[in-house]
Amino acid sequence: MLDSLKKIFTGSEDEKSISTSSRPDISREKSAELYQKAKNYFPGGVNSPVRAFKSVYGIPLFIQKGDGCFIWDADGNQFIDFCGSWGPLILGHNNAKIRESVGEVMKNGMSFGAPTALENDLAELILKNNKLIEKIRFTSSGTEAVMSAIRLARGVTKRDKILKFEGCYHGHVDSLLVKAGSGLVTFGETSSAGIPKSFADETIVVSLNDKAAVEQAFEQFKDQIAAVIIEGVPANNGLLIQDKDYIHFLRDICTKEGSLLIFDEVITGFRLGFEGAARYYDIKPDIITYGKIIGGGLPVGMYGASAALMSNISPEGSVYQAGTLSGNPVAMAAGIAQLTELLKSGFYKDLNNKTSEFVESIQRFATARNYKFKVNSIGSIFWFAFTDKETIKTSEEIDPASMDKFKLMHRELLNRGIYLGPSGYEVGFVSSAHSKIELEKAKRAIFDSLDIVFRSARSTEGGTRGQKQDETE
Ligand SMILES: *Cc1c(COP(=O)(O)O)cnc(C)c1O
Repeated sequence: MLDSLKKIFTGSEDEKSISTSSRPDISREKSAELYQKAKNYFPGGVNSPVRAFKSVYGIPLFIQKGDGCFIWDADGNQFIDFCGSWGPLILGHNNAKIRESVGEVMKNGMSFGAPTALENDLAELILKNNKLIEKIRFTSSGTEAVMSAIRLARGVTKRDKILKFEGCYHGHVDSLLVKAGSGLVTFGETSSAGIPKSFADETIVVSLNDKAAVEQAFEQFKDQIAAVIIEGVPANNGLLIQDKDYIHFLRDICTKEGSLLIFDEVITGFRLGFEGAARYYDIKPDIITYGKIIGGGLPVGMYGASAALMSNISPEGSVYQAGTLSGNPVAMAAGIAQLTELLKSGFYKDLNNKTSEFVESIQRFATARNYKFKVNSIGSIFWFAFTDKETIKTSEEIDPASMDKFKLMHRELLNRGIYLGPSGYEVGFVSSAHSKIELEKAKRAIFDSLDIVFRSARSTEGGTRGQKQDETE
């Protein structure tokens, strides 16, 4: 352990020896130029909203390249990256095996709109090693996978309503861009313009970690709820780790009421383990959706279920779903290369152990200094919560004002060469490309940034309030 860190843990450090001053901001000239240009082409200058850096300081960094755990922006600034393209890059950036495999496949053309052997290969790799599903359909994004899973649930149950949880994100599906109204069990209110109220009326929104609310919803809408949808581990609005007991309660009530349980594992699938959160909780959902990691950095989504349920999808059954680029050979090749690495013995154990050491050490630092700061973590996912609560399981427990602290921390981390997703509601990801040396460097930058955040908090108690985010990447 580094000497300066040792001091911190023994509590004997000289207060003055710790960096308390913010560093000068990194240069963003080239990024600024590119951003200016992008604003002519795209609303807000971006193709997905959170990228616009609205909840943090400065303008978005335009990324030039990535390699391993590093990214470089257009101005040549280098960062250790914990965003990982929002989750897909579990092997880090520019993985040689994925790159080579994709290059090989591309020599034969990029899309045919006809079946290829590569679809079989990726499907076989997945189904041999995931015993929770029997048949699958590839899509081109997580959103499409979720949208299709919901259509399947409605088609099979002949019911219209969906129950979702406040604080869970499932992509930009119309009927799921819905937030809770007031009251225990409510119809949602749309969280985006352009969604008919009649769609939102088919979506019931309840709080996470609240059995009574789910029971009441099933009572109130007897025989009307087609499916309950939940993120494997809610990780799009903080990291809201649910109790195993609660997840099993959802399984049981769905079975009892004739509703389907949809696990949205777009983040957690292939992340918590090859079989995702469903295996972690030891539960068998009726339909599971995947995305992110499955495409090795290229656009792939997937939904899967029992062979019987999947037989309802067209052309076998009457639930229509399609895609021009679904099962695209280049994307399949990237997925095969990535998932092959994940199946190597000890992959998840090493990654998860590395992550726990990292987050535990950050937590020890914060606790030793009485900072109101908790690192929530599961597998290789982590989330920095500025709170003194022991655990946070619902989105209502997240204090929007605490996002001011994240905002400051984000700037301090960028100035120290650490890149986190530009919103305090987003989680971070550790990849297999993060070595101990880089994690050690990242920790020191995090320690310094925390010192600055909490010192500044003391001097500006009761500052401006943060904005709760309504959308995610
Ligand atoms: C990212 C995400 C989605 C949406 O996936 P896209 O590929 O962005 O459409 C859906 N559900 C969850 C849980 C996600 O994290």
